[in-house]
Amino acid sequence: MPDKPVSVVTGGAGFLGSHLCERLLNEGHRVIAMDNLATGTIDNIAHLVDQTDFRFIKYDVTEYLYINEPVDYIYHFASPASPIDYLNMPIQTLKVGALGTHKALGLALGNGARFILASTSEVYGDPEEHPQSESYRGNVDPVGLRGVYDEAKRFAEAMTMAYHRYHKVETRIARIFNTYGPRMRIKDGRVLPAFLSQALRGEDLTVFGDGSQTRSFTYVDDAIEGIFRLAMSGHADPVNIGNPEEISIRDFADEITRLTGSDSQITYKELPPDDPKVRMPDIARAREVLGWEPKVDRRSGLKKTLPYFTDKVSVDVR
Ligand code: UDP
Repeated sequence: MPDKPVSVVTGGAGFLGSHLCERLLNEGHRVIAMDNLATGTIDNIAHLVDQTDFRFIKYDVTEYLYINEPVDYIYHFASPASPIDYLNMPIQTLKVGALGTHKALGLALGNGARFILASTSEVYGDPEEHPQSESYRGNVDPVGLRGVYDEAKRFAEAMTMAYHRYHKVETRIARIFNTYGPRMRIKDGRVLPAFLSQALRGEDLTVFGDGSQTRSFTYVDDAIEGIFRLAMSGHADPVNIGNPEEISIRDFADEITRLTGSDSQITYKELPPDDPKVRMPDIARAREVLGWEPKVDRRSGLKKTLPYFTDKVSVDVR
């Protein structure tokens, strides 16, 4: 029997990274998860650590990267991903997108491994094209507060393509849109954890601005399916991975109060600077090259997510 493929997942103890590790183990890979635990947590991978095919290394991937065995795939998923996290860790965010991507690509080059970058819809910034297709070049302020994340990921994409073109490394770029599901940190500041925990506690839901800004939320299993298909595909150009079901944040607040049966009210707070006014993926390319589209609508995805948050909020209250 041939050896199992070996996958390295940077950010393997994070929200998306831990779901990805689980999927890869189910696909018969051996998985090496790396994480410096800046925003990830061991809790996310506690159910995997006893598996013989799983190994966790606490490591900062902006440092020199070496693995003492051959590697077939490197998924670079390490990065703060919530606006408050990257505002609190601006330099780490830039470092992991820039230096971390460089180190992970070097590991791919040295091993003849395939490299898969977790990029983001934030490369489109505050978009002037709607919905956003992969050909749209974006509207990002490099010196704005969000620039630390957006430019780090834009640099990461440029570095990935440079390794692809110059060193002939096999590379894939997933532009991942807002993704949700179990294992998000309840206090990570993103809208879904904020609204769900506020609604479950009966507190006011904090809508930033007038709530007319839109987002399109993808359930984590759909995102992982798209990412896995992309990794296995032959497509080196960026591919949007997201659910085009768009909703305004104001309507989303109502949806969450209805879902939870909460009598929470809404409080309006100041809109953070550079907050994108709209966001919705054009997924024509994903449909065409991956045969992928999301299967879980928001209503079903929120129902699947609710028990996790109910549990977290009850523990947090004690
Ligand atoms: N938002 C909000 N209330 C919150 C947190 C976020 O109204 O408590 C808004 C935020 O201003 C943005 C949207 O919800 O317009 C999504 O924010 P999030 O931080 O989840 O992710 P983003 O898509 O901005 O990266």
